[in-house]
Amino acid sequence: MKYVDSHIHLNDYTSEDLLRYCGRRDLELITVSEDLKSSLTNISLMERCQNVQAAVGVHPWVVGKISSEEFSEVIKLIDRVRFVGEVGLDKRFVPETFRTQVEVFVNILKEVESRGKGLLLHAAGAWKEVLSLVDRSSVGVAVIHWYTGPTDLIKRVEDLGYYIGVNAALLRQAKAREVVRQAPLELLLTESDGPYEYRGLRLGPDLIPSLVSEVATIKGVKPGDVLQEVYNNYTELLRRVK
Ligand SMILES: [Zn+2]
Repeated sequence: MKYVDSHIHLNDYTSEDLLRYCGRRDLELITVSEDLKSSLTNISLMERCQNVQAAVGVHPWVVGKISSEEFSEVIKLIDRVRFVGEVGLDKRFVPETFRTQVEVFVNILKEVESRGKGLLLHAAGAWKEVLSLVDRSSVGVAVIHWYTGPTDLIKRVEDLGYYIGVNAALLRQAKAREVVRQAPLELLLTESDGPYEYRGLRLGPDLIPSLVSEVATIKGVKPGDVLQEVYNNYTELLRRVK
């Protein structure tokens, strides 16, 4: 059985760390990008490591900092991958660029629509806005990363056929536990967002087994059942994108 890390920034790891993750048989990873440089690095990691899928994208945190030429170069890379991310909106950490973020995100959605790719979404503080924009587009496959939004939106995520990324921060984050309590297992994908740090936790793939155990405790099932279900969700996700 394999662990899944559906949202990691492998381009931010040292080559020593990469040796521990690249090619591992018990771990599947989707590495997300913020800009052109990370998109190119992640594509080359996908080509090197059989357990890695790459996403290309422009992160809402760098919107306004990158040129339109760089943006176009990232868009050109979409055909080389199955996922676009980390893209979306952020009202929580960078509210000052929100209007530009919306423009950029809408452009990205237009580019993704016709190509059958999956979206890996960042939606901190903008859960509703991101869901509405994606819903209005014809993109059918999306994962909302590190979901800690309102629990009354979970049903909408389910109706839209999207997935919820459960971050390893759940080990310290009550809101993430509540999301897991209320969301059906069929919606969940595990993730680390490594190498990000959260309240003293060094997020990364090494935490995924503890995350799986914790989700199992919350759901009142065996860790093996969570592992199996998340892996099924992951293979289903791959099946649904080109
Ligand atoms: Zn991220």
